Amino acid sequence: GRCLSACPVDAITAGDNTLKFIRDLSTPNKLVITQMAPAVRVAIGEAFGFEAGDNVEHKLAAGLRKLGVDYVFDTSWAADLTIMEEAAELQNRLERYFSGDKSVKLPMLTSCCPSWVKFIEQNYGDMLDVPSSAKSPMQMFATVAKDIWAKEKGLKRDEVTSVAIMPCIAKKYEASRPEFSRGLNYDVDYVITTRELIKIFQDSGIDLKTIEGEEIDQVMGEYTGGGIIFGRTGGVIEAALRTALENMTGEKIENVEFHSLRGFDGFRACDVEVGDIKLRIGVAHGLEEAGKMLDKIRDGEEFFHAIEIMACPGGCVGGGGQPKVRKNKDAILQKRGEGLNNIDREKNMRVSKENPEVQAIYDKYLDHPLSHKAHELLHTRYFVKRKK
Ligand code: SF4
Repeated sequence: GRCLSACPVDAITAGDNTLKFIRDLSTPNKLVITQMAPAVRVAIGEAFGFEAGDNVEHKLAAGLRKLGVDYVFDTSWAADLTIMEEAAELQNRLERYFSGDKSVKLPMLTSCCPSWVKFIEQNYGDMLDVPSSAKSPMQMFATVAKDIWAKEKGLKRDEVTSVAIMPCIAKKYEASRPEFSRGLNYDVDYVITTRELIKIFQDSGIDLKTIEGEEIDQVMGEYTGGGIIFGRTGGVIEAALRTALENMTGEKIENVEFHSLRGFDGFRACDVEVGDIKLRIGVAHGLEEAGKMLDKIRDGEEFFHAIEIMACPGGCVGGGGQPKVRKNKDAILQKRGEGLNNIDREKNMRVSKENPEVQAIYDKYLDHPLSHKAHELLHTRYFVKRKK
């Protein structure tokens, strides 16, 4: 396979793990768990007669179980966990900055897109302390699955095969980075893209159109509106602000939809104002735009408090592993993104910190965001990389 979208991860060994997945599923006594990224559920249906943006998560859960997956979990749960860490980091940097500490690194840059992370490592080696050190939702999920969930079940790390269903080819590369894993058998054993899963379903005679939907497994399946919008451009920073601003003001935000952050331009400069906090936020999708902006920030021509950067058009809904779009690309990607917004709108819980299953993991294991334990499990480091 090759990297198809704007993603610059040229050295990705985009290994197709389809056969491995099928073999693991048919091995007796092998425990296979999956997570699925937000963007997968609003696009995979296109191959089975659904509209772009239709949420087929329950059918996806049923289809995966039919293939033999033992536990079907949700990356959106871990997106809420990522937000807990990232929002705490943002709050910490902003409070220090507002109290006059000019040594604080701003803007805080999001770090959940592996193509973007590799891009900054290759091109902006002097700026590696600006991205959030929080791991991506995929990696946080997998660490918790192997280091906490498996132990609770009395299993060793290597007794769990952890598979990530992703819209993204670069996630295969991310899964293979040792600094994101806690053991020699990696936290994410391998990644299956949306397109690969479509093929597996088709070859196995599983039709998402007719299959009866089933619930996603709990403990790592519950998510808030904040967790689900991760899959579209602007969603990560919007989710981070919902939690960070509630924590900073101590008040519940009445309108959690930050429309000033939404839209489809390659780079959007947005103002967000809540109470007496005023923030200048950037949102980039596509690395060319991101690069131009980083040059200006480095030269002191521009200032932002935080910037979300995603490599693919539209964010992960337009990922290189998603069903190919041949016509009306922007309109289809926007429909997928709107599908995520609809899920968000229908949720009672829309702010990541409200997720009871995320709160439970702090109460039982992690204490609080940015705690010593949280750092050990959920954060990472970045390295200067040479361009190939
Ligand atoms: Fe992958 Fe999403 Fe980044 Fe695209 S934007 S490379 S799909 S993480």
